[in-house]
Amino acid sequence: MLDLLIRGGDVVTPQGVGKWSVGIQGEQIVSVGVEDPSVQAGRVIDASGKLVVPGGIEPHAHLASLVSMQPSGREFTLGPEEDTLGMAFGGVTTHIDFCWVHPATDVQTALQRRMERWKGKAWVDYSFHIALGGPLPLKTFEQIPDAIKEGFPSFKVFTNEVLPPHPRRQPFRLDFGRIQLAMEKVAKYDGIVVVHAEDDDIVQFNYEKFREEGRTEGANLHLVHNKLSEQLAFRRTIGVAAATGAAVYFVHTSARDGVEAVVEARAHRLPIYAETLHHYACFSAEDYKKPRGFCYHTYPSLKYPDDQKALWEGLVRDGVSTTATDEYPTSLEAKLRGKQIDDVTGGNLGAEARMGIVYTEGVVKRGMSLQRFADVTSTNAARILGLYPRKGVIAPGSDADIALIDTSINRALAREDFHVSDYSPWEGWQVRGWPVMTILRGKVLVEDGRMVGQLGGGRVIPRKIDPVILRRPAS
Ligand SMILES: [Zn+2]
Repeated sequence: MLDLLIRGGDVVTPQGVGKWSVGIQGEQIVSVGVEDPSVQAGRVIDASGKLVVPGGIEPHAHLASLVSMQPSGREFTLGPEEDTLGMAFGGVTTHIDFCWVHPATDVQTALQRRMERWKGKAWVDYSFHIALGGPLPLKTFEQIPDAIKEGFPSFKVFTNEVLPPHPRRQPFRLDFGRIQLAMEKVAKYDGIVVVHAEDDDIVQFNYEKFREEGRTEGANLHLVHNKLSEQLAFRRTIGVAAATGAAVYFVHTSARDGVEAVVEARAHRLPIYAETLHHYACFSAEDYKKPRGFCYHTYPSLKYPDDQKALWEGLVRDGVSTTATDEYPTSLEAKLRGKQIDDVTGGNLGAEARMGIVYTEGVVKRGMSLQRFADVTSTNAARILGLYPRKGVIAPGSDADIALIDTSINRALAREDFHVSDYSPWEGWQVRGWPVMTILRGKVLVEDGRMVGQLGGGRVIPRKIDPVILRRPAS
């Protein structure tokens, strides 16, 4: 007898979409196929009229993280105990956060600290990218192979300081010499480099120029963190990746320029992947002028309608592999506090909305196939970042991480739809389809608008990337 059987829904699998039954035993999926009336189960879920998709994977979250735009304070973003509740409601079953390594620490210590913080505090499963911040000593790079072996094969680097040098902030930028070294290491040991790519010269010069011209209001952020900066940094990064043989995952691609650089690299069979944010695909720099405009902002910046078009083209067809949030959960007050180009709070609050927004905007409005929807919300992140096939797919042998989407829902989102912080940038957004049930490793987490799971049920998931992903564009 099975523990759980989901029947009657439209199940989205890599082989196609069909009215299949999904059988679950313990934490894993054991069968996917046509209904067999003789099969018994402890619980049967009737998914008629609903889509049955792989639980979402949020590849980009900054929880329990120092709010670096406010250098005077010691404010942190909300932790996993608060934010992953929203993820669970939004159909997300795994997230990848960041473990920062600074010159004064080492990878092991930083990882232990981060894992301690998450232990017993996450509603959904998790892992961490290792973030290599600032002018790190060369010995730090010697620790890359061990981190990969332990199940942490992705390394985040920044090609620029996101904000100007005054007031003093924790350094982000890694010089291209060190980026080359990181790439050599990951290429050899089967890791991937996760890149925040902006041109440091262009962005820092713009800060200086805009200050001198007295144009420091935050509505100019897209002119400081501009399209040229993305174009130059994406192409320079791809150049170093091609020379070292490394695979690259570009976080928060915001402009047509970034998409085009990635598409071109992929046409040359380079293992280059782009992530974008649903915020970037749905909001533009015009939105900065609205009263709550900065609640849509994530560094680098919102761009123009033509860039949104390119992001959707990439998501619907090819070129943009994943959607993420750059989750950075703060109060509305903290999000809107900074009003200048150098102090607007970055990151966003939207992991809970991501699946529903991408379904509405991608599938319903832009003809994205259901399989592609599963790819850009779950499967591709799982494959590129090494969670596959345990995560990211409805298939026998995989973890029973599943979201049910009710496609008959057609309404404007309201504050009550969200479970994190005191606001959502998506309040008022019209959706057609919304996650209504979330299952994590065979256990129902959310149903009928209620959390029925346990805090602390989330586990750290060791990752290992399929070498195919690292040799050619395969997701
Ligand atoms: Zn980020």
